[in-house]
Amino acid sequence: MVSFIGAGPGDPELLTIKGKKLIDSADIIIYAGSLVNPQVLSDAKEGAVIYNSAGMNLEEVLAVMKDGEEKGLKVVRVHTGDPAVYGAHREQMDALERMGIAYEVIPGVSSFLAAAAVLKKEYTLPGVSQTVILTRMEGRTPMPEGEKLLDLARHQATMIIFLSVGMIEELASTLRQAYREDTPAAVVYKATWEDQKIVRGTLRDIADKVKAAGICKTALTVVGDFLGDDYELSKLYDKTFTHEFRKGVQE
Ligand code: SAH
Repeated sequence: MVSFIGAGPGDPELLTIKGKKLIDSADIIIYAGSLVNPQVLSDAKEGAVIYNSAGMNLEEVLAVMKDGEEKGLKVVRVHTGDPAVYGAHREQMDALERMGIAYEVIPGVSSFLAAAAVLKKEYTLPGVSQTVILTRMEGRTPMPEGEKLLDLARHQATMIIFLSVGMIEELASTLRQAYREDTPAAVVYKATWEDQKIVRGTLRDIADKVKAAGICKTALTVVGDFLGDDYELSKLYDKTFTHEFRKGVQE
């Protein structure tokens, strides 16, 4: 059984208990070295063989998994955040399926959730936005029809843009075509790592501020009025609102 594990955003204590137990007992660990904090592996078993997938292609990763399985060794594949978000994870699962190798997936704390935590914000404010769009700008991976940044921006939803801070100028100028120029925006670099940085601004000035801070990778850009202070109180905790678990009071 190969275990795919979401390693969380960076802070090694943001790994699930299940993920940690599997990593600490693994014989073979393949981890995405460009983003996974190596401290996540600090309690690996003595003699565990550790591969950094940053320098490996898909076939090489699969060969290590297959070899480990054949020898009856415990193999774990450690992805940053949660593997389901830009993890290049599906192609590995499908290949294991074809090889008849069983696998499981242990979810992790995605960086977009860590970003909300360090910003101390909620993405879904009543009266502001009830929708969160996770997306990226077109890089070497093309964007499917209808998913260009401007198409998505028209929804005025909370938007979280992965993998694109290196194109922050183009990102901000595109979003300015759909959102107000003074829409708040923030860039979170290495959320929960020791060298985390947060840059706050608006769509008008965020690109300049990010450049001045020297941030060009490993960051999320978050955009929307959820970063502001105007919103409605939730119905869930409204004292006059009755729901399944609580009867509202009459005013
Ligand atoms: N599966 C990962 C995302 C992998 S794609 C997850 O769930 O978070 C890599 C991109 O994720 C980076 O370019 C950056 O945009 C974002 N990212 C990953 N870790 C981050 C962190 N700690 N802080 C900010 N952004 C991060």
